[in-house]
Amino acid sequence: MDASVKLGRIWGIPVGLHISWFLVFGLVTWSLASGYFLTEYPDLPKTAQWLLGGATSLLFFMSVLLHELGHSVVALRNKIPVRGITLFIFGGVAQIGKEPQTPGVEFRIAIAGPLTSLALAGLFGGLWLLDRAQPYLAAPSIWLARINLILGLFNLIPGFPLDGGRVLRAIIWKITANFYRATQIASYAGQAVAFGFIGLGLLTILRGNFFNGLWLAFIGWFLQNAAASSYAQVNLQRMLRDVTVAQVMSPECNQVPGNIPLDQLVEEKILTGGHRCFLVTEDGDRLRGMLTLRDVTAIPRANWSRVLAEQAMVPREKLILANPDMHILELLQTMDNAQVAQVPVVKADQIVGVISREHILHYIRILGEIGS
Ligand SMILES: [Zn+2]
Repeated sequence: MDASVKLGRIWGIPVGLHISWFLVFGLVTWSLASGYFLTEYPDLPKTAQWLLGGATSLLFFMSVLLHELGHSVVALRNKIPVRGITLFIFGGVAQIGKEPQTPGVEFRIAIAGPLTSLALAGLFGGLWLLDRAQPYLAAPSIWLARINLILGLFNLIPGFPLDGGRVLRAIIWKITANFYRATQIASYAGQAVAFGFIGLGLLTILRGNFFNGLWLAFIGWFLQNAAASSYAQVNLQRMLRDVTVAQVMSPECNQVPGNIPLDQLVEEKILTGGHRCFLVTEDGDRLRGMLTLRDVTAIPRANWSRVLAEQAMVPREKLILANPDMHILELLQTMDNAQVAQVPVVKADQIVGVISREHILHYIRILGEIGS
């Protein structure tokens, strides 16, 4: 989720708004102000209808945020990192840092969101019982109760990657003791649900309700994509689960001494050799740091003759290092978190190779071609 506005952190979790959220916030406010509240409170001035619409819409999106925080707090309690929560056009998403280790943990993380929404529905329903005599509080309260109920129930639909689909996966996982099989079945269910939404949307359009039909079909299309790509991702994990760094890395890496000036490096190694990444070493194979084309170009060209490789490199202490026996998935996760494209592979303080995203992609492509 790029292109999002950062709001701050809750329990250390960064919370942001994707640009598409502003569109859906506008739509919900508009439909409340010029539809629901217009019917409920026809005598209310226009500005007040819009203010009430905006405030109710905000409370709705806070409810969505609480739903995601529900998932997050259970994840954090089970020592699973949460990278961030983003509100976007279809609601909210909590980016859980890794797959749960057991079906029980998966079940609890998945169910926590819908349970939060159902609890909020109860809360707003209770509020409505108290304030239903108050003209300008009754309609927002009952609307928020209803929308949270819908949110809770919708997410319980058993199609992966909806929460209900994760619950289903956890149950099948528990029964079969096979995570990949469970994901496969839950993804099929997810795709079936998605096509159901698309079909229902088309039917609604044919019946003349164009906007609602389009929205249903749009949700279906989004779910279909999400189900297919979640499955592809898990399939990839299955393919790579026994693969180690040593199988994927390149044993050849360009080593340069620390005292080579950048202009000489560019002339001899980058322009003629075509290399983009160098390990700076001393005494043969002892790693001192890594230097990429990006580090070189960060320094003004006029200074290249005066700056040495060791001055421009990222020093060893700041590098992420791999060892050859590490699992490739573990390394990919680390590289993702640190946003680095290549990593030196070191064993007993000796450089044995280098591994980059390209190496991993290449390996995956070959695996796919030979039909693993
Ligand atoms: Zn959820």
